[in-house]
Amino acid sequence: MKKIQMLDLSPEVKLLWDKINKAIQEVVLSGQFILGPNVKAFEQEAANYLGVKHAVGVNSGTDALVISLRAAGIGPGDEVITTPFTFFATAESISRVGAIPVFIDIDPKTFNLDPGLIENAVTTRTKAVLPVHLYGHAADMKTILAQAEKYRLVVVEDVAQAFGAEFKGKKLGAAGNAGCYSFFPSKVLGAFGDGGLIATNDDHMAETARMLRAHGSTKRYYHEVIGYNSRLDEIQAAVLRVKLPELERSNEKRRQVARRYNDLLDDIPGITTPYEAPCAKHVYHQYTVRISDGKRDSVQKYLAGQGIETRVHYPVPLHKLPVYRGNRLILSKVEQAAAEVLSLPIWPDMENELQDYIADMIKFAINL
Ligand SMILES: *Cc1c(COP(=O)(O)O)cnc(C)c1O
Repeated sequence: MKKIQMLDLSPEVKLLWDKINKAIQEVVLSGQFILGPNVKAFEQEAANYLGVKHAVGVNSGTDALVISLRAAGIGPGDEVITTPFTFFATAESISRVGAIPVFIDIDPKTFNLDPGLIENAVTTRTKAVLPVHLYGHAADMKTILAQAEKYRLVVVEDVAQAFGAEFKGKKLGAAGNAGCYSFFPSKVLGAFGDGGLIATNDDHMAETARMLRAHGSTKRYYHEVIGYNSRLDEIQAAVLRVKLPELERSNEKRRQVARRYNDLLDDIPGITTPYEAPCAKHVYHQYTVRISDGKRDSVQKYLAGQGIETRVHYPVPLHKLPVYRGNRLILSKVEQAAAEVLSLPIWPDMENELQDYIADMIKFAINL
């Protein structure tokens, strides 16, 4: 029986092996492992790619969020409006700086926060809005930015799943005060370990983020604030410098795989394939379908029995987790999504036969 995992990183590594190998060896021989020439060069290359003034490399996507919120002056008692349909790190970062995540419901088409609900959630303590570009598809930044301007809110974007994705012809992450990216190995631009990046056009934000990532100091041993040990390391930066020039191509391959899935799955009753807004360019970090009529779990179980790995992103909306349950919210659209979504295997070089097999098995399972 074939075993199909969510993600196969080996074709890309094989393709780039010589360059990656050379880049890693150079770092090792240089003896400079932390904040050296590769981090500096990668920050510049990433800033150019994203179309922003500054990029600051950090330890992880989570730290990118924490440091951006801190640098934007968000702290104890402040409220930050966000989506409950995301990886835990989004809300965890808000809590880590002492602020309170305020969850609002999602747009059921894109799974991203519904900006029409921001207005109702704003209080005198609201300081920021933190949209997530889930699965690699843009949240409605036009409306989010308009609401943020109206209520004078800071905008920090969680772009962990959407490096290279676009909204109205521009790369995501540059529209608000800061964009936060993750280089966790499974992300569309993955390192060989943890890593993250803050993108911003704001000089003060960039300067503060650089200070916070290095124990709150700009000058060695002269610490100005309590900061973090959160640097992107040289080996990760060297690997990312090899991978970044390939990203447009690999994201385009992901889009091709996604379109092929759409063709195979669109006609199956009970399945809703992902929506891609005309003004957005999806990067399909995840290819996530909806399976209605309460059949999601049985389809997933059947696929697992056929050797096909799938994932539910995410089974528990964050407002339902014990740590956030105090709020007693009822967010019906997100709760329905959590019961219906299923992410299928996807990677840039995924073979047609694997997709055909998965589609056949889904067709069979849904009619059981
Ligand atoms: C992966 C992810 C993060 C966290 O990134 P790390 O690099 O793993 O810390 C944050 N938010 C979302 C939506 C993510 O998918």
